[in-house]
Amino acid sequence: MPYVVTQPCCADASCVTACPVNCIHPAPGEPGFATTEMVFIDAATCVGCGACVTACPVGAIVPDHALRPDQRPFVELAAEYYDVFPHADRTPVALVPPPRRPVARDLRVAVVGAGPAGLHTADELLRHPGVGVDVYDRRREPHGLARYGVAPDHVDTRGIARLFEVIAAQPGFRYRLGVEVRSRADLPEAYDAVVWATGASADRALGVPGDEGVLGATTLARWANGDPEVALALPAVERAVVVGAGNVALDTARLLVGPRVGATEVSVLGRRGVEHAALTTPELVGLAGLEGVDVLLRSAPPEGRGVRERLLTDLAARRPTGRPRIVLRFDAPVTAVLPSGVRLADGEELAADLVVGAVGHEHQPVAHERGRLRPGEYVAGWAKRGPRGFLGTTRADAQESVATLLDDVEAGRLSPSRPHRPRASASSS
Ligand SMILES: Cc1cc2nc3c(=O)[nH]c(=O)nc-3n(C[C@H](O)[C@H](O)[C@H](O)COP(=O)(O)OP(=O)(O)OC[C@H]3O[C@@H](n4cnc5c(N)ncnc54)[C@H](O)[C@@H]3O)c2cc1C
Ligand code: SF4
Ligand code: SF4
Repeated sequence: MPYVVTQPCCADASCVTACPVNCIHPAPGEPGFATTEMVFIDAATCVGCGACVTACPVGAIVPDHALRPDQRPFVELAAEYYDVFPHADRTPVALVPPPRRPVARDLRVAVVGAGPAGLHTADELLRHPGVGVDVYDRRREPHGLARYGVAPDHVDTRGIARLFEVIAAQPGFRYRLGVEVRSRADLPEAYDAVVWATGASADRALGVPGDEGVLGATTLARWANGDPEVALALPAVERAVVVGAGNVALDTARLLVGPRVGATEVSVLGRRGVEHAALTTPELVGLAGLEGVDVLLRSAPPEGRGVRERLLTDLAARRPTGRPRIVLRFDAPVTAVLPSGVRLADGEELAADLVVGAVGHEHQPVAHERGRLRPGEYVAGWAKRGPRGFLGTTRADAQESVATLLDDVEAGRLSPSRPHRPRASASSS
């Protein structure tokens, strides 16, 4: 009985090392791992032991007999992957955890940002004996965008909070919450090293006339997730426009037709052709299977016989049934935001009570070398890579930055910044 990875999978690879027959790919170190939308189980090799189910922090893995009809495309997606990347080597990836790198002296590290990147960084550091980590966040609540960004209806993805709780319960971990840190001088204690994992979550403006005051998708998600820092008084919304064609645009559209907002028609507008759309196939599978909502494509579907092309062709053939609808449109660049909606490049005006921008995040790239800003200061997550990738991507990313930090310790590049003193036991502030 093969198992299947279903959405939402955040590709953090916890399942990969749990599998006794190495049938989950791409695995860390294989091409595509750091950028994959999800991992795939090879149905031909899976022995149905269920070990991966327990390992997955977001409940993404199910036996194939338990799949809902709308999840069947995940079986085909996995088959498509193994058609292109057959895996002959079935050696288990790691039956024992990788050996710990000894750290010569006890090391105190401050991680700034308690989002996914900060917590994976702390977890990587705490694998090494003698390391203590204080994780700072300007908020009183940790987990960053995993708490306030991930869509409320992505219940399984939000389950990653359980993994973060396990990380925070380790000896040597301390939260320092409600403390804003802008430079090393702001840290109330001396540390051997600092890792900046402060994210990049400010919505990017649309950059067209009239875009001042357009609501950003992340702000809307924060409101929907009960962020006390966001006070929104939404108008009554019947028709809405979402500008952007990535996963966050789809999250936003689902939110707008949901009970909290209650829109009856949401148009999702992609600037370029459907073949360039940033939305991922797993998210598209989830959208196509949405209950109680007409999901329609008002553009020519792409050519091809893959799962993605077939899904889009199906959406293009669907007819409205009178239920609330999400209409996807591509090649529809917005040239102006109007008081009554938006204007498209072809002059068409689309009426909307609410316009939401989902075109990414502001980010000033920082120069770093494998996560090193300078010896003693490192960067991880969206603050390092820019606002791209999934929750799981932050894990691979943290591993690189921590490896660089430990290289610097071993090479003696960190000057001890504090006298040795025994560390207090773990606690939360
Ligand atoms: C709307 C939205 C929905 C998403 N949905 C998904 C999804 O369904 N699945 C998925 O895999 N990925 C999703 N992502 C992507 C995912 O959230 C990111 O990949 C991930 O959160 C990046 O982690 P990070 O730790 O780098 O940043 P963040 O999550 O932004 O964490 C940064 C933390 O740093 C803190 N901080 C910032 N500045 C300071 C300071 N000066 N001092 C102290 N603390 C500070 C912040 O308060 C925050 O807690 C979504 C992203 C967005 C925006
Ligand atoms: S069920 Fe067992 S064999 Fe199959 S993918 Fe999961 S861990 Fe591997
Ligand atoms: S979320 Fe992580 S553990 Fe779960 S299926 Fe995806 S890669 Fe595996």
